[in-house]
Amino acid sequence: MKYTPIIGLEVHIEPNTKSKMFCGCSQDHFGKKPNTNTCPICLGLPGALPYANKEAIKKTILLGLALGSEISKSSRFYRKHYFYPDLPKSYQTSQKENPFCIGGELLGKKINHIHLEEDAGKLIHADDGSLIDFNRSGCALIELVTEPVFHSIDEVLKFLKELQLIARYLDISSCDMEKGTMRLEANVSLGTRQQVPGNGLPDYKVELKNINSFRFLEKAIEVEIRRQELELSKGREPIQETRGYDEAKKTTFSQRSKEEAHDYRYFPEADLPPVVIDRSIILDLRSKMVELPQQKRERFEEQYKISKEFIEILVSDKKRADYFEEVAKLDSNYKTIADLIVNKRFDQKYPEPAGLAREIYNLSHMQYATDTETAEIISKVIAGNTDIVTKYNNGQTQVLGFLIGQVQKLLKGTGNPKLISRLLIEKLENDQK
Ligand SMILES: [Zn+2]
Repeated sequence: MKYTPIIGLEVHIEPNTKSKMFCGCSQDHFGKKPNTNTCPICLGLPGALPYANKEAIKKTILLGLALGSEISKSSRFYRKHYFYPDLPKSYQTSQKENPFCIGGELLGKKINHIHLEEDAGKLIHADDGSLIDFNRSGCALIELVTEPVFHSIDEVLKFLKELQLIARYLDISSCDMEKGTMRLEANVSLGTRQQVPGNGLPDYKVELKNINSFRFLEKAIEVEIRRQELELSKGREPIQETRGYDEAKKTTFSQRSKEEAHDYRYFPEADLPPVVIDRSIILDLRSKMVELPQQKRERFEEQYKISKEFIEILVSDKKRADYFEEVAKLDSNYKTIADLIVNKRFDQKYPEPAGLAREIYNLSHMQYATDTETAEIISKVIAGNTDIVTKYNNGQTQVLGFLIGQVQKLLKGTGNPKLISRLLIEKLENDQK
């Protein structure tokens, strides 16, 4: 490939607050009867006055603190104008200058800023026209914008999965792509080697919008890179536009071109006062900061010395990681614990960590009969069951189970099943020779 992909991300995260961004309606709009979760404020009725949701602001700042962003001392909301049926006020209350969080970094990738805004309603397309459901209108929405610093799909996916994990660790959002509490957009362009890194960017970018799974994003970026490559190879610069992804056709398609690009006419939202972030709020949030996934990975490696594979699986689900640690407090066979949780899902079999600890104790204190003892008993069983052995020799291998049972019986259950089976077959085969 002559070109290097240059990708920037915009990630929308719906925080799990009780109420919407500027009114008292429920933030949880999922699966509700259309237009039952609204009020004059989120319907944008004349005269309704919004008030900002403190919890949503705190959750946004918490994410910023986790990613090393600088927190603005004073921030405010702006009106972002555009006309679309699902936006009743004809502007979205969003942020522009001094968003709550500026800068930051994740996996070595620079974040431009994190801001807070309100969500729009939803259009439902029916045969005889479109319907609008305003249940989601005015819901709080955190938007994280990265710098155009990704050069491969792999980097993009790693970043997004880690961000999703961090948001879940911080308990700010379920980040459930199916429910739309995490939504992805990518800006993709191709640059020559000289343009990367930091030597200027291509003067166009294609925005891939409305992508609701990691897999679709992966495919959308992949086909978009190929499409742009083809354009460039023909000496044409791709048009700056917004494109969607068509899963059935495995192509991206134009949604909006540069000519129609919006001039949002941002201006400060006069109905909402500036938000001053008191230092005490930041100190309070910092003091409640949880151990983040990467810190947990490093600590698990140091403290339990279990494989990276086990660590990755445990850390990817905070509840499982916590469960592992509860069991690890009761038993120091860390590898066994991790193995039983990861490979045998014993965390589901024993909801109480103590139950799994007891099981491990029983397993590790089980004294198996020795090889010699087992071999002696096998000889006895073979000598005492000549008719069964004849059946085995005639090809009726199903009698093996009976013989194993006899051996186990004489060993009073202390036989190692694998060992009995191996020695028994060896002996039967050798006796035949
Ligand atoms: Zn409302």
